[in-house]
Amino acid sequence: MKTSIQKLRKYFRLEAERGYDNKAVMGGLRNMLSSWEGEARADGLPEPIIQAVSSRLRDYHRLSEESRKVTLVGLWRRIQREPSIAAELKEEAPTPGDSPTPGEAPTPGEAPTPGESPTPGEAPTPGESPTPEDSPTPEEAPTPGEAPTPEPVPQLAPESPPPSPIPQVDMQAPVTEIQGVGPKRAQDLEHLGMTTVQEMLYNFPRRHDDYSKLKPIRDLEYGEVVTVIGTVKKASTRTARSGKMQLAEAIISDKSGALRVTWFNQPWIAKQLQQAQHVVLSGKVEQYLGRLTMSNPEWEALDETLLHTNRIAPVYALTKGVGQRWMRGTMHKVVVDFAPYVADPLPQEILGKASLIPLPGALSNIHFPESEKHLEDAQHRLAFDEIFTLQLGVLHQKQVWQGKTGRVFKSPNYWLAAQLNRLPFKLTKAQQKVLADVRNSLISGHPMNRLLQGDVGSGKTVVAAMAMLIVTHYGAQAALMAPTSILAEQHYESMREVLIGTGSELSKDEVRLLIGATPAAEKQAIREGLAKGKVKVLIGTHALLEDNVNFKDLQLIVIDEQHRFGVNQRGTLRRKGENPHLLVMTATPIPRSLALTIYGDLDVSVIDEMPPGRQPVETYILYPKERERAYSLIHAQLEQGYQAFIIHPLVEESDKIEEKAAVEEHARLQEEVFPNYKLGLLHGRLPDDEKEAVMTKFRDGETRVLVSTSVVEVGVDIPQATVMLIEGAHRFGLAQLHQLRGRVGRGEEKAYCLLIPGKAEAAENERLLAMVKTNDGFELADLDLKQRGPGQFLGTRQSGYSELQLANLTDIRLIEKARRHAQELFKNDPGLSLPEHESLAKIVKMIWPEENGGDIS
Ligand code: ADP
Ligand code: MG
Repeated sequence: MKTSIQKLRKYFRLEAERGYDNKAVMGGLRNMLSSWEGEARADGLPEPIIQAVSSRLRDYHRLSEESRKVTLVGLWRRIQREPSIAAELKEEAPTPGDSPTPGEAPTPGEAPTPGESPTPGEAPTPGESPTPEDSPTPEEAPTPGEAPTPEPVPQLAPESPPPSPIPQVDMQAPVTEIQGVGPKRAQDLEHLGMTTVQEMLYNFPRRHDDYSKLKPIRDLEYGEVVTVIGTVKKASTRTARSGKMQLAEAIISDKSGALRVTWFNQPWIAKQLQQAQHVVLSGKVEQYLGRLTMSNPEWEALDETLLHTNRIAPVYALTKGVGQRWMRGTMHKVVVDFAPYVADPLPQEILGKASLIPLPGALSNIHFPESEKHLEDAQHRLAFDEIFTLQLGVLHQKQVWQGKTGRVFKSPNYWLAAQLNRLPFKLTKAQQKVLADVRNSLISGHPMNRLLQGDVGSGKTVVAAMAMLIVTHYGAQAALMAPTSILAEQHYESMREVLIGTGSELSKDEVRLLIGATPAAEKQAIREGLAKGKVKVLIGTHALLEDNVNFKDLQLIVIDEQHRFGVNQRGTLRRKGENPHLLVMTATPIPRSLALTIYGDLDVSVIDEMPPGRQPVETYILYPKERERAYSLIHAQLEQGYQAFIIHPLVEESDKIEEKAAVEEHARLQEEVFPNYKLGLLHGRLPDDEKEAVMTKFRDGETRVLVSTSVVEVGVDIPQATVMLIEGAHRFGLAQLHQLRGRVGRGEEKAYCLLIPGKAEAAENERLLAMVKTNDGFELADLDLKQRGPGQFLGTRQSGYSELQLANLTDIRLIEKARRHAQELFKNDPGLSLPEHESLAKIVKMIWPEENGGDIS
């Protein structure tokens, strides 16, 4: 055998023996590459093999043990498949003790259970006889030296079960395993985000062109989006009359008629068209001088074979150097060679109950659908998978929580009634309901893990304060963390009444505020009080997270504006107690469908009712030329002693430009519009403490108008503020507009929100009209979800959701279906430990690693 191959085999075996710790070669496998490549060339190994080995081993050290194994197994297969090498390996007589089964090349992990990739521990170590369970049954055993890749199936037969015995196909194999993909193409594919076969299978087409529904040119109608096939009759370039622009023009004809097509600024297209002759165009039919035309349609040279073999053809995202035709051809190979052998992680039972097609068929049909219906079924199945795995993740997290013990805190009715009687108001129905939820959690024996949602001003604080009272009633401690000092101060002020007012069980010294600005001596006293258990309630900012802040018995944590904190920060605070109860609050209304998906690991309570007597903020849209009217309303309010916010439009380019614009606007308003009042200025580039100083001055009435960029949207209470003027309102999303509006109308007085879009026509903007129509944050959130998608609601939970390719988070039926099945699955197999759930368990581990200790994000 060639020495270079022998060497590889030696190292690969050694790695397998060592559990893939990358120490078979001193300094790691990549260290052998430079000498090995030379030897391999001297041995006359084919260049693609050399490239495959070196490109995969170069990054070997970065891989997990599992992936390393997959890499080596895949590489070895690749090598075995090379005819010249295969022949040699076959000839070679096995050395005693070297090979588990005579005649079989003992490469790492080569004798796994069929259809399933072995875990490192299961791989038969060389020199050791595999146990009977490990050893493949005769008909399933891969014949040595034979290509393990299945013979391409002649036709896509997606819904028929994969042929049995199931050949072992490595979905993690590098793209170079695909016929026709060499190192250069592999690089192109990498640009498109694909390095493995699996990634290619999951590279879903951007769209499909249905060639069975082609329209003859004669039947085209103005305004429709169509696909047309025709012959290029003429293609040329010219310079547009107006000036520098280059136009490529062509006339495309079919038997029924001809169509004029123009591309702007892509003169090279003319030449390509001349060469192509037959083309497929898709785009919108327009009209020019009474004739139908198309501008800038997507186009490609017609692939006759495709037209005849696949009526519905996939269209893929491309990159430089990768054409649609090549991509489609390659994807076809991938689908034919691999899709039928993909193991379906979903148990048969769920497939049946949820009416889902098996994964191999879904993966075939998402690319090369047999019919429209097949495509829909494939999309549905794969979208289900996306949501289902996320649901498994959140439910698993929930289980982690529920597996822990939490201290029980009872709150007898008579005692609670007495506490509630001390409040200056009666709780709303919604508040009572939420308080009941919280009380239930506190006696459940498990740590509470609850999200409290409620629009700005709905009265979340008092619920949190009651929860704190319950816990401190039994001598334990509670902490509230807010994202800014000014918010922490505000909570401290507003909670004092509830916590230490007349008849309270807590004294002034037992409720403390800890923020960055707290004097050092006081901080020290607070820390001592906490450690001794004398301080019962601590309200503050990130200052709470510092190492030297230690509690004697922390049992309840409240986090305000939860999206402003990272997972780690919440984790740090939680670790200051022993499985403390957790209540996180948010003023961003999250649509129900989304809350179920994103916060499925939490119990969610909603305050969906405002305290009585609260007047909705009166909202108006003003045309830009009506700005003076807005200013005069503000003047009138200022004269009565009230205050106003003026929000400066979002400037997308950069913070710096936004700052400049805000500074100029502030100067203009101060000098020209409100010379008799003091105006504050707030923007994102101010350091945090300056931002807070500006807010404090405004809160204290030192400045009467606050000119601000959108950074002002935190829950600060300025009861005297009655006007919110938003410039460039059309640029903001609904959720944000609603948040901004929530800054006013927090007192008894009538408040106004004035929306001035940048352009007059934007006054008809649907979002702005919705703002006028309703003050209900949930209604607006629903609308926002439909218009702009879920991104904005995800906050720090971005990760898993940004990867959804097919699932639509507004599709509540799909979400509920996936959730129902995930719940059922967990009910029957809480640990996902049944053999049929093994792959699901792996997926859950992969997307929701437990490194945050099961913490929510
Ligand atoms: P948010 O949910 O935005 O945190 P707050 O808790 O700050 O709202 O409450 C807003 C205002 O409403 C506070 O001044 C609070 O005292 C008052 N409030 C809360 N609950 C009620 C109620 N049931 N009846 C009357 N006023 C209430
Ligand atoms: Mg609040």
